[in-house]
Parts: sequence; C-alpha cells; structure tokens
Amino acid sequence: MTMAMGITKSVGSVLCLRTALNRCPPLSPSSSFFGQRRSKAQCWGIWMRTQGIAVFTQRNGYMIRAMGTGAENNGGSIDSEYDYDLVAIGAGSGGVRAARFAAQFGARVAICELPFATISSDETGGVGGTCVLRGCVPKKLLVYASSFSHDFDSSQGFGWSYDTEPVHDWKTLISNKNVELKRLTGVYKSLLQKSNVTLLEGRGKIVDAHTIEVKGKRYGAKHILVSVGGRATVPKMPGSELVITSDEALDLPSRPNKICIVGGGYIALEFAAIFRGLGTEVHVFVRQPKVLRGFDEEIRDFVTQQMSTQGVVFHFGESPTAIEKNSDRSLTLVTTNGSERADTVMFATGRAPNTKNLGLESVGVKLSKQGAIEVDEYSQTNVDSIWAIGDVTNRMNLTPVALMEGMALAKTIFGNEPTKPDYSFIPSAVFTQPPIGTVGYTEEKAIEEFGDIDVYTSSFRPMKVTLSGLPEKTFVKIIVDATTDKVVGIHMCGDGSPEIMQGFAVAVKAGLTKKQFDSTVGIHPTSAEELVTMRTPTREIRRKSDQSQAKKEEAVSSTA
Ligand SMILES: Cc1cc2nc3c(=O)[nH]c(=O)nc-3n(C[C@H](O)[C@H](O)[C@H](O)COP(=O)(O)OP(=O)(O)OC[C@H]3O[C@@H](n4cnc5c(N)ncnc54)[C@H](O)[C@@H]3O)c2cc1C
Repeated sequence: MTMAMGITKSVGSVLCLRTALNRCPPLSPSSSFFGQRRSKAQCWGIWMRTQGIAVFTQRNGYMIRAMGTGAENNGGSIDSEYDYDLVAIGAGSGGVRAARFAAQFGARVAICELPFATISSDETGGVGGTCVLRGCVPKKLLVYASSFSHDFDSSQGFGWSYDTEPVHDWKTLISNKNVELKRLTGVYKSLLQKSNVTLLEGRGKIVDAHTIEVKGKRYGAKHILVSVGGRATVPKMPGSELVITSDEALDLPSRPNKICIVGGGYIALEFAAIFRGLGTEVHVFVRQPKVLRGFDEEIRDFVTQQMSTQGVVFHFGESPTAIEKNSDRSLTLVTTNGSERADTVMFATGRAPNTKNLGLESVGVKLSKQGAIEVDEYSQTNVDSIWAIGDVTNRMNLTPVALMEGMALAKTIFGNEPTKPDYSFIPSAVFTQPPIGTVGYTEEKAIEEFGDIDVYTSSFRPMKVTLSGLPEKTFVKIIVDATTDKVVGIHMCGDGSPEIMQGFAVAVKAGLTKKQFDSTVGIHPTSAEELVTMRTPTREIRRKSDQSQAKKEEAVSSTA
C-alpha cells in the first residue's frame, strides 16, 4: 500500500499512542527533540516512528496509522544533523501545501515568508501568497462587485425599477476586501500552526545546499524548497515608473474614470472587465492582433466581441512606447499608433519568477533564460537537496497546479511515494464578463495532435437575456478525436462557464467519448445542457495521412 496514512478498523495487537504516552519517553536530548520544542505526544510520535513502531491514533471510530516518514527509502528521514527536514522559502499556494503535507508525513518543517502587505515588494508579501492576497481571491471579489451592474441592467426586463441609479462605493469594496485578506492570511497561519509547521517571518536566502538564512539567523535543512512565486514586471520605457500593475489595481484609493490597460493576457482582460463593470472607460492595448494567446481561436474572437459590446475599446497591434504625466495629473499612454489620455495606466504584460537575490547562483541552481528555476519531473533542481514548485518554475502558473506540485513533492520526499505532477487536461478559467471555461486541446492543437477531429459548436442567447434584451451570447465548443471518439477539448464563454467546466473537466480527463456525452441526460433549462445535446458536427476536419490511418487501426485494435 502506497498511501501515507493507512486506515484500519482492527484494534487487536495495535500499540495505541494513548497507552504509549503513559510510559516514560526515553528522550534524548531531554525536553526538546533534535533542537525543536515539542509536546510530549509529538516526541513520542517521532521517537516511535524513528524506531519503526507504527503509531495509531483514534479518529471517528477508526484507528489511523501514521506511517513512517518514508525517509528510510528516499533520504527524507528525521536527521539530527539539521534543524529541519524541510525548509520552504515562500508561503504561497505551493509552499504552504508542501509544508503542511510534509509535516503530516512526520517531517520537521519550517516555512519562511515576508511580512504582510497588499502590494508585494522585495520586503513584503504575506502568508497565503499571490493567489490569496494579490491574485485569484481579491480579483474574484472585484469580479463579483463589478458583475452587479450587469444584473442591474438585466433586471429591468424582469420588471424591476429603481427611483435612482445604483451607486457603487469603491472605498467600501476595497476596505471590505482588505478585511477579508487579513482574515485569510490569519487562516493560513493557523493552518501552518495546526500542522506543526514553524513560521519564520522575514526574507529567506539560501546560504548553501543545506542552509538558509532569515533575518540574520541560519537554519540547517535536509531539504530546501523554493516556492517564492513570481511578480509582475513592467518593461522599461520613458515614464514606466508612472504605471500600475495588478497588485496596485486591486488596492487603488479610488476607481479611475478612465484606464488604459496594456496586455492581452487573462489578467489584462479580467481587469478590463472589472473596471468596465464598475463604470470606468476602458481601453485595452494588445501588441498582437488578438487577445488570449494560446486559447482556442474562436474563444479569443468571441470574448473580444462580447467585451466590445459592453464598451471595452480594444487597440490591436499597438505597443506602448512611453507614458507622460500631464499638468492635471492624468497620464498619456503613447503607443506605436497614437496616444490615449487616462487617469490610470496599468501594465499586465507579464510576470517574472522571484529568483533574484535568493542565493541560488551561489549554490549553482540552474535557471532558465527567463530566470525560472529548472526542475525535473519531481520538482528537484540540479542540486539534490534543493527543490522548487509553483510559479518560480514557470511550468503552468495557476494555483491548483502549485498545490498539485506541493502535494506531489511532499509525497516524493516524505511519503515514500515518488509522485510526478500530472499536467494533462488541466482546466482553467478567465473571469471576464462573460467568463471563459476551458479544458483540453484547442481546435488548432487538436488538429496537430490527432489529425482527424470533429468540432461541435453552438452560439446562443442564454435564457436570462431573453427578457433583459441585452446583446449577450454564449458560445460552446466540443472537440472530438474522430479516431477514438474521445472528447479532447471543451471551450465555453458565457455565464457560469468556469463552474460548468470544472465538472466537465472530470469527464474529459477520464477520457469519455462523445457517445457517452450524448447518452448523458441534460439538466433543463441550463446553458450546460448544450454540452450533452450537440449532435451534428459543425465541421469534420480530416488529414488523410498514413499517420492518422495507423492511429485509427491502433485505436480499433485496442478497443477490440
Ligand atoms: C492578478 C492575478 C490573478 C490570478 N488569478 C488566478 C486565478 O484566477 N486562478 C489561478 O489558478 N491562478 C491565478 N493566478 C496565479 C496564482 O496566483 C499563482 O499561480 C499562484 O499564487 C502561485 O503560487 P506559488 O506558491 O508558486 O507562489 P505565490 O503564491 O506567489 O507565493 C510565493 C510567496 O513567496 C514569498 N516570497 C518571495 N520571495 C521570498 C523570500 N525571499 N523569502 C520569503 N518569502 C518570499 C512571496 O511573498 C509569496 O507570498 C493569478 C495571479 C495574479 C497575479
């Protein structure tokens, strides 16, 4: 059995922790264990595991066996030579997950993190990291805030009327959001504490392959985990110090009346939707001819058209060259095609891994050209004792991916279960209005990969807008590998798409066929039912090559 926690109902010959605690622990050194202050129960637990004695605790009527650290086999053992078995630098999504699970496997773990602030810098961060404090969470709160305007607009067709127009107070939103962030960072701290992970507050730096330094104090670590994430970057140009990034956009003292957003990625579009929904005039400047590079082409076009109907102005093929400050304190964004004056200019042009001044060069950890830490499939760097996960490795910069990598790492080092993160069919969302949900291959990538594909598309007016009269539409697309009938991609832009896609991602990941989709009864009336009722392909794409014929034969023989 490979699971770290084995659960059994048999109590027969079990050595129960409670019984063990009634005896005197043969601890050495006396009240601390390898330099760590620990409770009597913890000392016993650790001692018994190091002696190879199974530890059982009782929970919900089950005897739960805490297995060994796994270190016997893979070098993750409790080792008095070091202060900790694992020290993580950076308590964001990945670091916290890895630290907590490593501790649950019995490892002695510390994690270091910069002091809390809503805006990140070399000296500030906060337990919880980007997602909780400057990414997914505060952004989604602002998305909710902004989506009300859409609901107010829709409501009139359903008979609602107001004597005065609803008024939004930005200050209330931001101050409530900040209260929530403080609560969340507290929740994360308490999760670490409950998992017996020691929090070291301050900037962590690697001194050597087994030592890190925080606020001038050094700590020995059998394993070091670098989970420092990334930060927004702004390209250098005249006036670039005048612009804001997503960090500041989430914490502005007042809502701009007009904003220029530079960038065509998901962060740029999400902020464009947020500000537009709250009533700001929004201009988006995209160097490329389209937004959302890497997404399905039809989705890219559809979301642009939908956002345009809501009043977002797109400037394609325009790059910024300078930012100028005007006498009325407004800014002018100068581009390759002209200029635009606004209260605020935001750059969402990219993020860079936080690898500067971490001491990585001094121990010879290999970095990519973009400054990301290079790791193998188990997240191990070229220095055996140093590991890296999350955005700092620039593999797939999403919170659930950092969580998966953190979990896999804990299992690999301390769970006696070498685990590679699985990057196949990771669903994702863009919280624009309307939002996007997507999983699997785009049509373009599916053609490259499978050759023969069937594409099902549907574009319709969702029921909610029939009475409101708003021009909103929903678009759905299913991509099927024609050889195997497996659904290999789903893309959707419309109300509820991210929620819908989470469920359908299970089906796609499980390799279900279009026939199985078709045999599923829909839920009526929903937009999601479209995904199980599209019967006729919009197009059948065939690459009549020997390769696709060979694939077909292979698929037929494997299902025979
Ligand atoms: C605006 C925005 C919106 C996003 N929206 C989504 C979304 O909707 N869904 C999604 O899945 N992902 C989203 N992301 C991405 C997601 O936030 C990241 O992928 C995720 O946070 C990465 O986790 P991580 O553990 O690698 O790093 P982080 O969460 O960035 O954590 C790294 C931590 O390390 C700390 N640190 C850095 N250097 C040091 C040091 N020397 N010493 C001590 N501590 C240090 C930092 O302060 C930080 O807390 C968004 C990101 C942004 C910027």
